[in-house]
Amino acid sequence: MAHTAPLLRNEAERLDVLRRLCLLGTPRDPAFDQMTKIASLVFGTPIVLISLVDEGRQWFKSKIGLEIKETPRSQAFCTYALNNTEPMVVHDTLLDARFTSNPLVTGEPNLRFYAGAPLITAEGACLGTFCILSDQPRSDFDKSDREKLAQFAQLVMMRIETLRNIGYTDPLTQLPNRVRFLEDIELWKHDLPSNGNSLFAVAIDICDASYFRKMLATFGSEYADGFLLTITRRIVSIMLPVPVYRVDSTVYAFVLEAENDKRLLNQLSSIKTKLGGIIEHQLIPHALQVVVGAVKVLDHETLVDITRALRSAFSHARTKRLSTTLYHPDLDVAQQRAFRILAAIPVALASDSQFSLQYQPRVNLSTGACTSVEALIRWNHPKLGIISPAEFIPLAEKTALICEITAWVLKNVFKQAELWTEQRQFFTISLNISALDLDNDRFCDLLILLLNSHNVNPSLIEVEFTESAIVGDLSIVDKQLKRIRELGVKIAIDDFGTGYSNLAYLKQVPATTLKIDQSFVRTLPTDRDDIAIIKAMIGLGIQFGQCIVAEGIESEVAYDLLKTWGCHEGQGYWISKPMVPGDVITWLSSNCKQ
Ligand code: C2E
Ligand code: CA
Ligand code: CA
Repeated sequence: MAHTAPLLRNEAERLDVLRRLCLLGTPRDPAFDQMTKIASLVFGTPIVLISLVDEGRQWFKSKIGLEIKETPRSQAFCTYALNNTEPMVVHDTLLDARFTSNPLVTGEPNLRFYAGAPLITAEGACLGTFCILSDQPRSDFDKSDREKLAQFAQLVMMRIETLRNIGYTDPLTQLPNRVRFLEDIELWKHDLPSNGNSLFAVAIDICDASYFRKMLATFGSEYADGFLLTITRRIVSIMLPVPVYRVDSTVYAFVLEAENDKRLLNQLSSIKTKLGGIIEHQLIPHALQVVVGAVKVLDHETLVDITRALRSAFSHARTKRLSTTLYHPDLDVAQQRAFRILAAIPVALASDSQFSLQYQPRVNLSTGACTSVEALIRWNHPKLGIISPAEFIPLAEKTALICEITAWVLKNVFKQAELWTEQRQFFTISLNISALDLDNDRFCDLLILLLNSHNVNPSLIEVEFTESAIVGDLSIVDKQLKRIRELGVKIAIDDFGTGYSNLAYLKQVPATTLKIDQSFVRTLPTDRDDIAIIKAMIGLGIQFGQCIVAEGIESEVAYDLLKTWGCHEGQGYWISKPMVPGDVITWLSSNCKQ
């Protein structure tokens, strides 16, 4: 009957420590390889192993003289050595009843000699052994050899403890951190699979940064830490035996081996399914918004490349609302264009010939009279050609450049407004502003300066911003909006219906106008849901005493329907496309009764 080693009393804790150390399944480490190499020379044995004893297997962190990476635990000599603090020596396996029928003894590599010193952590957990083996029995292994072997085991433990202690462990979860992840990736690059498979570095973000910030603000950091520990336990158990790293506040990473991209995506989708959509912590359910970025680990790539590629896959997944993105160099093309565009904005602002404004009329649906025009920025770049504001404004909004653009637009709107006032053309000009413009005094200060220096009636200026601009410190936003309103300048909420406005808050915004987003209007007259939503928004605006504007009117049918439903004003291609200032006056004289 096969002999089996007794299980250790503290087996569960021992396994826990072993897994948290993140050694199982990690790449070859030159420091450990050097130790096994020297030991082979010192002891003259063909086989030297650093064996880590996992639940059902022993896995070799470093090995000399053996092809396989692991064996079943039942065949591991080391399991017997785990119970001791001293090295265990088997001079001849054929004379020891515990090993006579072990397949590693009866068959290849026909082991006859074994000596293993236990690897014991500071907290007393035995991880495995540093062991030497030979296909020849050996009676000359004496006390001083045992001492040397124990010293090798100590050396291994010093390296393991160093990896654990010095800046490699995330204090909250005890998982290896980002620094360790990047170092391990560096090691993996020299230890890529020889079977033709590829290795992929994978990062999983379990929820949006803003969701986590809100959780912190609402429930406090103790709760958020507990939530992360719940998530950590779930991810670690799903990924076993693959080591998991915590690389950012809500981001976990690991390395996966897969035959090809398709197989990898299958593995990732099964991981996501196991993670599930909802995680409950202290009886509060949280909907996870998992995003996965992956990148193939190639031997020639530098650390920076991997990090950048992962970030690029990640941000692509988030912005495109995909749940998984495998990095592809094309993603960089988009990022490089974004970078070129951002770099070109300051030059364009300084040149004064690249940016211009076009104006799109807005009319009273009952009378057909033009009530206002919306200033829309246009960019003709000498090398990149025409760049749509739908492309460059969202990029600029991620930086402080948006404030420079707004200032440019505002100054030009005032020049135009003064000109039209001189020509006795009285209609409102509205301009688009962004969240950052409401974040401090600068926009409002400039507005005051321009009102003081131009002959323009403040009621002929209107600022439009989307619901999403009402973020950040609401008391500051409130203050800026009040200042704007007190000047007599009008306020419009743009793209209404697309954000997730808190209606109670919206009621407090001193908006004079609500602009129904074009996505509802363009489907008219077919989409019944959109019809219901439009009617509700018109009703809401009327309740609040606001002027309701429908954007994106592309047909006469839509125009007539909106008029019937009581919508006050409209804007859209069917009325007029945006025009250069000269054409606005021509259009007014031929299309509109003032
Ligand atoms: P927006 O503020 O919602 O402006 C309306 C957009 O819809 C304009 O696109 C306009 O040309 C287009 N549009 C108007 N009527 C119709 C229609 O009937 N059908 C369709 N399909 N489209 C219509 P544009 O000029 O490309 O601007 C896109 C967005 O870029 C604007 O959306 C606004 O968010 C932003 N933007 C434009 N100019 C500025 C600016 O000066 N400052 C800021 N911060 N954002 C601007
Ligand atoms: Ca607008
Ligand atoms: Ca709009």
